[in-house]
Amino acid sequence: MIWNKVETCSRSEMQSIQLGRLQKTVNYVYDKNRVYKKRLDEVGVKPSDIKSLDDIRRLPFTVKDDLRDNYPFDLFSAAQEDIVEYHATSGTTGKPIVVGYTRNDIETWSEVMARALTGSGIGKNDVLQNIYGYGLFTGGLGAHYGGIRIGASVIPISGGNTQKQIMLMQDFGTTALTVTPSFLMHIHEVGVEMGIDFKKLNLRTAVLGAEFWTESMREKIQEGFGLKACDIYGLSEIIGPGVACECHEARNGLHVNEDYFYPEIIDPATGEVLPIGAEGELVFTNIANEGQPLLRYRTRDITSLNPEPCICGRTLIRMNKLTGRTDDLLIIRGVNFFPSQIESIILKHKGVTPNYLVVVDRHGTLDEVEVRIEVTDQYAFKPIGEAFVESTHLTVSDELATRDINKKLIRDIKDVIGITVKVALVPPGTIPRSEGKAKRFIDNRPK
Ligand SMILES: [Zn+2]
Repeated sequence: MIWNKVETCSRSEMQSIQLGRLQKTVNYVYDKNRVYKKRLDEVGVKPSDIKSLDDIRRLPFTVKDDLRDNYPFDLFSAAQEDIVEYHATSGTTGKPIVVGYTRNDIETWSEVMARALTGSGIGKNDVLQNIYGYGLFTGGLGAHYGGIRIGASVIPISGGNTQKQIMLMQDFGTTALTVTPSFLMHIHEVGVEMGIDFKKLNLRTAVLGAEFWTESMREKIQEGFGLKACDIYGLSEIIGPGVACECHEARNGLHVNEDYFYPEIIDPATGEVLPIGAEGELVFTNIANEGQPLLRYRTRDITSLNPEPCICGRTLIRMNKLTGRTDDLLIIRGVNFFPSQIESIILKHKGVTPNYLVVVDRHGTLDEVEVRIEVTDQYAFKPIGEAFVESTHLTVSDELATRDINKKLIRDIKDVIGITVKVALVPPGTIPRSEGKAKRFIDNRPK
């Protein structure tokens, strides 16, 4: 099912919507926001100069630091009295990034999330357990608004409370989940320990996002829960979740709601726009927001766009699954790689789990990488006579070592990323779990 017929419109119809909205937005921010007015004056662009979609290239980029520098409200174009909701990102250092929504922006958000959930195969007959965190984080309320819009029965449980999550899945007959993939894996682990067979529950669909995950993780989740998993993409700066989502028919790239969020792919080093299909940094311009429309916002996410027609009937352009983030890119001895590349390698091996952490250290002048990987329960050694022990008291059995699994992992990782790393197998439960986005690397090198 398709939520809105605009998702199937022709390229020329879409471009005409985009151009009209882009012109309106540039006019609006020039008129309402003094930071953008100054920026546009500096590069000598007047709103009337935007005559075609390609003219978007004349507009300056907006970066994350612009939002920090203008904390909290200086990039807002709407007046405070028109803002009906605030959200903010969890800034690990310094001030968070703030976004403000007008009533129309909440409408937009509900609309794009309704499209995303419908595209994932969720409808009014579904019981949607929304495990994204509610609060300043956009995940919870975004999925909530979309769920209400399509008429699903929403359970606003938010993150955490693993055992209660499982209880409600059983008792409320949950059919659909919105959750981060790492937390869903955690729920699986806890459930299995409790003796739950998730495949016997009513679960049918999971919409997963807010962090990286790979195709192998998808297989693992689908297998463990007996459901179909779709990828959703979004970021608070642009609206929150709902910027793009996979359709359940193809699950090959995420349809971008490009009548609201105009996508470009640029070379992250030069800022030059790359041809369709090339991989680079994803940039979005809000062409219909009112609260804080951003011009050419650099997401730091690395992907490419796919204009091919999709079997689902949508004509919305697709963005391929993210391959990395420019800020997660690790450069080790001159080699570039993303920690997420390691995940699919780990998942090919039996006896280890996708709970991993990449730790980078500098010894003298040499950078060294250690990949810590948790083994599965069957390879955890428990002290004799203890029915239940804390994971910190577990050790890893020697059996994996005799199967040379370390050597195999080291070889496979070298094949893919080109450098030799150390592999440390650790007992189950020793790598910290997150109830939000999983932290996959620690860089201990001096800055
Ligand atoms: Zn599709």
